Amino acid sequence: MEHQASPASAEVRVILHKSGPITRLEEPARAYPAAMTQVGDLPVRLAAFVWLNEQVEMHGDVLPRSLLEQGFQFEGQRVPLLGPQGIFKPRVCELPLSITTIPDGPYDDKMSGLDLRYSYRGTDASHPDNVGLRQAMAGHVPLVLFVRLEPGRYLAHQPVFIVGDDPAHLMFDVDVDAGLGALADPESFAAKEAIERRYVTSAFRRRVHQRAFRERVLLAYREQCAVCRLRHQELLDAAHIVADSEDEGDPVVSNGLALCKLHHAAFDSLFMTVRPDYTIEVRRSILDESDGPMLLYGLKQMHDQAIQLPRSVGDRPDPARLQNHYERFLRAS
Ligand SMILES: [Zn+2]
Repeated sequence: MEHQASPASAEVRVILHKSGPITRLEEPARAYPAAMTQVGDLPVRLAAFVWLNEQVEMHGDVLPRSLLEQGFQFEGQRVPLLGPQGIFKPRVCELPLSITTIPDGPYDDKMSGLDLRYSYRGTDASHPDNVGLRQAMAGHVPLVLFVRLEPGRYLAHQPVFIVGDDPAHLMFDVDVDAGLGALADPESFAAKEAIERRYVTSAFRRRVHQRAFRERVLLAYREQCAVCRLRHQELLDAAHIVADSEDEGDPVVSNGLALCKLHHAAFDSLFMTVRPDYTIEVRRSILDESDGPMLLYGLKQMHDQAIQLPRSVGDRPDPARLQNHYERFLRAS
């Protein structure tokens, strides 16, 4: 089973682009002087980081498990990036390459404060996986952290480092904020650390929030626009009913609607709303306007239609939040 970060300590703080894409480093190994001397499988690790960045370019930053299990080829050998266990060491590596965590949302309370606390595999401190992470700590060896947002869907972050071992609680401490800069130039990094950690933590928190919210909302709506049923992922958004800057704007499915780009923009601009009874209402002035097929089919004909709802009642839009949007719509109309 994958590890679950313990409830009191599921702080997952990760960065991706702080130091720029890894793929742009001319000689990536130079960024890891400490690790270089400690572990012989560093080239595989760096190749894994580059490959992951390429996958993110192609697929977006939430990657399917099948892709990560398949992995990539390195000198004729296949390198999978994760396996059935939370701590994963592919055959070609001497030490674990990745760790996987499942943040136990809601995320806000859990991603402040400490670094990620990561559970041992089982309760035996001398299990090879636990020993492997301890050696990775000693060698300052970079690892990949996978955050499982939904079953089969992972946000990748690298590099992370094991920086603490707490056998009394069967936990490792994982530094997810170090980034490449920390290794390339430890002294200048230390000076900026206080500021950057704060920035990075909030940037990562946002990133996990947004990705997890999108994943859950699109899944709940079976990947179709709640208004027009358009099904193309690339054209779909997870819209907030109440904006995330407001009190009620939590990143929960009941504050979301899967909407295509057009209907997301129309909803946010209050050209239309969804009443608490799940009926679409289009602004009067739009209904009175005639301006070609897009307006007619895209908006006017949606008026008075019921939206597509998630099957699970708990995922359906919260009527109080819809009321909030509806009142804003009425004020704007
Ligand atoms: Zn639509």
